[in-house]
Order: sequence, then structure tokens, then C-alpha cells
Amino acid sequence: WPLLEDLYEENIPVYRFIQKPGDLVWVNSGTVHWVQAIGWCNNIAWNVGPLTVRQYQLAVERYEWNKLQSVKSIVPIIHLSWNLARNVKISEPKLFEQIKYCLLRTLKQCQMTLEYIKTLGLEAKWHGRSKGEAAYYCNICEIEVFNILFVIEQEKKFHVHCLDCARKTSSTLEGFIVLNQYTMDDLMEVYDNFQLHQQKSAITASSS
Ligand SMILES: [Zn+2]
Repeated sequence: WPLLEDLYEENIPVYRFIQKPGDLVWVNSGTVHWVQAIGWCNNIAWNVGPLTVRQYQLAVERYEWNKLQSVKSIVPIIHLSWNLARNVKISEPKLFEQIKYCLLRTLKQCQMTLEYIKTLGLEAKWHGRSKGEAAYYCNICEIEVFNILFVIEQEKKFHVHCLDCARKTSSTLEGFIVLNQYTMDDLMEVYDNFQLHQQKSAITASSS
């Protein structure tokens, strides 16, 4: 537990309270928190991600920070963003812009990676993706690996690497198989079709 006096001195806002039976406590994003039982209790907690621009931005920032710290991100943001683009209608302009920007960056990254492996005389083999297939993480640095997987067989097991770790293993990618999960045409179609959704009810409400 932190020393409350230290927090008061640094002007850090602190709330301390007792959660009574039936109370639900919402701990907002970015809130450092401690919980301690003062008696017998059931401890139930959910991690939730409301689809708001603040939540998305914080998630992306944490994702990037994790990369710098070589910590695995539990939420594969690229995978998630493409799923949002495919399946969810977004009507909040700022959230839409941020997701679209993430898609754009990924598209660019995929195109550059494909061009790079071409210069090495390699070609990505079609692998596709089965329904509900989980996101991949690099076996070395634990970064999320999206769409283009660098696979190497070690001790009769297949390991996925990111491009950087694959290049560190072999600058010519010797011994690696490059697998491709989505076609660029498919990704471009998803990108183009992902448009800001106009809420009909909002328009009706404002015009009446
Ligand atoms: Zn890696």
C-alpha cells in the first residue's frame, strides 16, 4: 500500500472507501488502485474495454509502450483493429479516425515487408486464416505478428518470429518460411469499406 501522506504531498488525488455488498466500483482507465479484503468476501473483477476514443488511444499507447519495454501485450491491437473494421460500425469520428490510421499503418507495414522479402528472392506462401484463429506473437520478443509470419522449425516445433527477430537470426532469412494470412486486396477492401457510420437516430433527433 502506498503511504497516503506521500500522495497528499504530491497532490495526487486519492479516494479510499469500503465497498459494501452489492456495490459495483468502476475503476477508470489509468487509475492505479489497490484492493484489500476486510473480511470474508467474494472477489470479482472484470477488465472491460468500452469502445470509446479514450479507451482505444490508451490501449494503443500501452501497446506501443509494451513494445519498447519488451513486454507482451495481452490485447493484440492490430488484430483487434482489423476485426473492428470488419465487424463494427463506428459512428464516433475521432475513434473512427484512430482505427483507420492504425489500419493504414499496418497496410504500409505489410506492403513494405512483402517488398523487402522480394528483394531477398523470397516469396510469401499462402497460409490463410481459420475462423477464430488467435493472433500470433513473436517467439523471441513477444511482439504481435500480423499477416506475414516468419516461421522457423526448431526442435521439431514451428516458431513464429517477427521480421526483426528473423533478420537477427539470419540476415538472408535462411531457414525461414514466410507465411501470408491475408491478401493485400482483402486488406485494402476492408480498409476502403471501413467508413464512418452515420447514426440514423441522431439525424432524426436533430431534424425533429
Ligand atoms: Zn520479434
